[in-house]
Amino acid sequence: MAASAEIIQRFKEMVQGSNNIVFFGGAGVSTESGIPDFRSVDGLYNQKYKFPPETILSHTFYMNNPEEFYKFYRDKILSHNAKPNAAHLKLAQLEKEGKLKAVITQNIDGLHQAAGSKNVLELHGTVHKNYCQSCGKFFDAKYMRDYPGVPKCDACGGNIKPAVVLYEESLDMDVMERAVRYISAADMLIIGGTSLVVYPAAGLINYYNGHKLVLINKGSTSADSSADLVIADSIGAVMSQI
Ligand code: ZN
Repeated sequence: MAASAEIIQRFKEMVQGSNNIVFFGGAGVSTESGIPDFRSVDGLYNQKYKFPPETILSHTFYMNNPEEFYKFYRDKILSHNAKPNAAHLKLAQLEKEGKLKAVITQNIDGLHQAAGSKNVLELHGTVHKNYCQSCGKFFDAKYMRDYPGVPKCDACGGNIKPAVVLYEESLDMDVMERAVRYISAADMLIIGGTSLVVYPAAGLINYYNGHKLVLINKGSTSADSSADLVIADSIGAVMSQI
């Protein structure tokens, strides 16, 4: 169901009256670019593999079964030829206009940067940064995608690990602290494409002190009752109208 013109108008006015906007986005922002949501009905978690995705994408599995890990990682995480959608583009534009100060994302696909966003806080890391575990050399996503088998460093032969936060691994505290700082200072917080079930990332919403908390999600979220505006619609459709 599309959001009413009245609700979109209210959202638009809130954005127009704000100059310290922070956006916090989840998997739903990427699904509209064709990247599967790990937790949705159609997502990876409901597909059939030898192991459930949350097992494969764990630190233990990565250490013990690197061949299997990379088979899955290449097929399901790196395979997408995704392009930024209307939400990514609008957020980049708002940043350029000086209204939006930071994008905080749980996604690892780099689509915000592809759309032109500069200040992107990636809570779960990114597929675009990969480092040799022995010498620290940097490799891009293409190197990881094209490498046959378990990727090895072309300088020292060491194993290369994506800078993606796997299950059992802790979030980067520096990124978390920056996210808290931006949210605490924001005059408007837009949360999109997440049902807010993933902690500790989901707990970030509690640091917001303002009165313009907007939730944009197709389904209901755990924070609907505390929001100032709830828009039950596609994030791309909503952002393209403001
Ligand atoms: Zn190396």
